[in-house]
Amino acid sequence: MTASNRRLVVRAMQAWLLMLAIYAAPMSALAQTRINYRSNKYKITDDVRAGQQASAEIERQLPLLRDGYIDNYVDRIGRQLVQAIPPDFQHPEFRYSFTVVNTRDVNAFALPGGPMYINRGLIEVARNEGELAGVMAHELSHVALRHGTAQATKAEKLQYGAIAGAILGSVIGGGLGQVIGQGTQLGLGTYFLKFSREYETEADILGAQIMARAGYDPRDLANMFRTLQQQGGSGRGGPEFMSSHPNPANRLARINQEAALLRTSGDRVSDNRQFAQVQSRLRSQGRAPSMEEIARNGQRYPPGRGGADYPEGRLGRVEYPSGRFRTYTEGNNMLRVSVPENWRRLPSQNSIWYVPEGGYGQGQQGGGAVFTHGTEIGFSATRSNDLRRETEQYLQDLAQNNPNLRQQSRLQNASVAGRDGLAMTFSNTNEATGQREIVTVVTAMMRNGAGMFHMIAVAPESDYRQFQPAFNNILRSVQLSD
Ligand SMILES: [Zn+2]
Repeated sequence: MTASNRRLVVRAMQAWLLMLAIYAAPMSALAQTRINYRSNKYKITDDVRAGQQASAEIERQLPLLRDGYIDNYVDRIGRQLVQAIPPDFQHPEFRYSFTVVNTRDVNAFALPGGPMYINRGLIEVARNEGELAGVMAHELSHVALRHGTAQATKAEKLQYGAIAGAILGSVIGGGLGQVIGQGTQLGLGTYFLKFSREYETEADILGAQIMARAGYDPRDLANMFRTLQQQGGSGRGGPEFMSSHPNPANRLARINQEAALLRTSGDRVSDNRQFAQVQSRLRSQGRAPSMEEIARNGQRYPPGRGGADYPEGRLGRVEYPSGRFRTYTEGNNMLRVSVPENWRRLPSQNSIWYVPEGGYGQGQQGGGAVFTHGTEIGFSATRSNDLRRETEQYLQDLAQNNPNLRQQSRLQNASVAGRDGLAMTFSNTNEATGQREIVTVVTAMMRNGAGMFHMIAVAPESDYRQFQPAFNNILRSVQLSD
């Protein structure tokens, strides 16, 4: 069947369904709209690969909320919806995930093969769980219908390497995308995120069907479009989601038309009490940055300010830590430690720095190496086996070399490689950037008088939330053999 024939058939079917909706509503449960796959020359594994690659990049560039309670909540909704995908569109190979991005822009998007990103702003404007689930069901439908690779089939342009940057470009939009994504292939991302009207209609219809199967009221998907439309009227330029999902009034009508064909028993699964808790939790977390601010902060250390290169390093844009870790064995097996895959290893005399690109460089006036992000691990000689006394001595030395260092916490107990350790937090003003940063120091005694282990973690105050989980994982991974 050619494309134009197909369109005729679809149109005829839609007319027929409309009549059915009008004349045969009572027995309509059997008559929900049938959706088919678009022609697609890619393998299922291509969807998965493209999506995984893009999601790894996205998670290094966009700040994730990382709030366990909210992540679990969104994940619960996502799993319910995945289970409700009709059998024809289920793909066991897909790796569905649901991640909240800490930005106030109202948007959500999903990548081929399963990864979905829901902006905090979208959760904040939704009126109830059903509306949030509605947007998620719609995005899930694009994934299940393999719209990304279907669109790439039409364009014959799938290049894995270019996908991530292009998606970031289109997520962030306009010229700002160039700051975050490699804007050179701008436009390719739209094959994965911006779809034609036909694809959008399919995702609305399948989304409504998934909603009903999951026990939500499919009309909440339509209601969400109304909510978003109202947001647009508030003079803030309108939600991002609306620019990739235009024509809300028509969609609303079409979704409700489909809802009338579906066997539903209202909203059985929404937990609106928990939804309210999630919203109030978000309100207590202060204002989230906008995508524009995130893109601008990407240039937080303008080139030229940091000065000369230090082991090919230059203070600049810093990626968020990768969720994947690489394990290093150091000092004749004395230390084993795992650090984010996108960090580099910079050995110096008695210690090793593990740092993200852009997180280290030369200070001003030739003041030596400066680190803005990363962790240092090292060993120092001791005079006694008294961890507390040795730690206090070590911190005094540290304060002498860093005059801006201010103590933020008392010495606290910590566990390091299965032994007792101590931890302390400081605030500091970075000598090269002038930014406020948080410095955490952890120490533990080596056995048999082999000295003291220390780990220093540093990140700007504004980034600490994004780096702390990586620091915790690094510390947990430490193994000492002495
Ligand atoms: Zn869509």
